[in-house]
Amino acid sequence: MRASNLYAPTLRNTPAEAEIISHQLMYRAGMIRKSAGGMYNFLPLGWRTIRKIEQIIREEMDAAGGQEIMMPILQPSELWEESGRWAAYGDEMMRMKDRHGREFCLGPTHEEMITALVRDEVRSYKQLPLMLYQIQDKFRDERRPRFGLMRSREFIMKDLYSFDKDVEGMNVSYQKMYDAYSRIFTRCGLEFRPVEADNGAIGGGHSHEFTVLADNGESSIACCTKCDYAASDEKAELAAIIEPNEELLPLEKVATPGTDNIQKLADYLQVPVTKTIKAIAYQTDTEELVLAFTRGDHEVNEVKLLNLLEGARELRMADEEAIRAAGGCPGFMSPIGIKAGTHVIVDHTVMHMHNAVTGANEIDAHFRQVTPERDFDRQLITVADIRMVQEGDACPRCGAPLHMTRGIEAGQVFTLGTKYSEAMGATFLDEQGKEKPLLMGCYGIGVGRTMAAAIEQNNDADGIIWPRAIAPFEVVVVAVNAKNEEQLAYAEEIYSELRTEGVDVLLDDRKERAGVKFKDCDLIGYPLRVTIGPKAVEEGTIEIKVRRTGEVLTCTRDAYMAKVVELLQEL
Ligand code: ATP
Ligand code: MG
Repeated sequence: MRASNLYAPTLRNTPAEAEIISHQLMYRAGMIRKSAGGMYNFLPLGWRTIRKIEQIIREEMDAAGGQEIMMPILQPSELWEESGRWAAYGDEMMRMKDRHGREFCLGPTHEEMITALVRDEVRSYKQLPLMLYQIQDKFRDERRPRFGLMRSREFIMKDLYSFDKDVEGMNVSYQKMYDAYSRIFTRCGLEFRPVEADNGAIGGGHSHEFTVLADNGESSIACCTKCDYAASDEKAELAAIIEPNEELLPLEKVATPGTDNIQKLADYLQVPVTKTIKAIAYQTDTEELVLAFTRGDHEVNEVKLLNLLEGARELRMADEEAIRAAGGCPGFMSPIGIKAGTHVIVDHTVMHMHNAVTGANEIDAHFRQVTPERDFDRQLITVADIRMVQEGDACPRCGAPLHMTRGIEAGQVFTLGTKYSEAMGATFLDEQGKEKPLLMGCYGIGVGRTMAAAIEQNNDADGIIWPRAIAPFEVVVVAVNAKNEEQLAYAEEIYSELRTEGVDVLLDDRKERAGVKFKDCDLIGYPLRVTIGPKAVEEGTIEIKVRRTGEVLTCTRDAYMAKVVELLQEL
């Protein structure tokens, strides 16, 4: 490819709407252009990187036993009615009608579609295991599309679905995908962590998010400072914190005027916040009241809470009326005195507190010297891990402190069990001729998001620094003065030799000033630049610049090829 023919409109200035570096640089490097909110055109350079990422994914999916297929983007509502998700999916699903008034959606994901596809054909355990995947556009009408390809509305996803005859088989498929994902992100040259993730209400399942470490990332993750435990903040398991023993004082009610939040209360009673118990009152979408209690300095983890509430999908703050009806008093709540039958969930750390402070379920009053193990009625409460992880909390595996860091979820692997196969009647006959639902897993990678994540991790003030495997071109040959025929001819020769060697190379033959071309090379971020200037023509000296280190090497005409090959291998 010659730069004189390449459609790569580079910009010197940053477009105002691009908030994060990957979006800014992709725009400036002429890789993408916006078509509408959260929707992007890929220009040739951007598309080359996308294709390279897809190819790595494809090779690893095939190596793990996946077979590539292609399903339609438009999906009939009937399939989603079967799984119950037509109603449940909400506004992220882009819905439409055809000329006959039949309802469709633009696929936000393809579990329903693929379950319908295999249920008609897979009849016997002999056809299992089966892994099918596609690399295709998804559409999600995100509430806040932003950050360019990171959170767009139309985006390219690789989605693979596995089908097995039993749980053991499903777990084998899961492990194969886990390993394949690790290879994919390693081959893409990314620094990432497989992070334990929430798997919703699917019992006994696994899920990991493959998180590319980046300060701009939307995911907050807890990583152990000693072992390799890592989990999303929603998932991070926490053991109860055991408070040292102390003399137990009798429960006492005290007046605490105007102390309707934890800080005011702690100040008023002159106790540390860690000696207080706080309450959050929720109502579920099934109109159930849920009172959650944690230590005053802890936060409730709504995902953990929801997982304890069968049938509920959403939580909102409870109405005062509902709280009062259960015997509670907003701002002054405690499990003591709440009506039996109310859903009271207490974080397990709270049960190890002594002489703590909690509300008295009446205005301007609290109990102090509360020892939950003694004073809470265990019959009426559920005790569980319901809090959010914080910096320094103990690792659930080894006890060392956890460190909170940020990252970008580039992929996720999930076991689904029989959630879809049962709802949609996807069954097979096992060895005994018994009809059973298929065990499924689903595995997604955001291709555009992976590209954005790579830039977040690899850039400097001059532009992108592509990992070699996903660079739009590995090498650019620059004819410093393309108006000089000798230089251009020399550069053409080098270009053609590199191509013959199998190097993915671009020739910058534009009749632009050298400074403009060098700036573009740095901005676009080709891993190696081979510079052909007057010295090449006169002395046979060829310059090679390594984008990542800025290192410049000079080689002879005879030695340059071996050097390029060697440098590429290191990148
Ligand atoms: P998020 O929590 O970021 O919204 P998700 O968990 O809903 O993502 P999945 O359903 O797990 O996403 O989709 C698989 C992969 O698709 C994600 O890991 C991510 O890389 C990519 N992806 C999801 N939503 C978007 C989006 N709006 N824009 C770009 N890529 C996306
Ligand atoms: Mg996900």
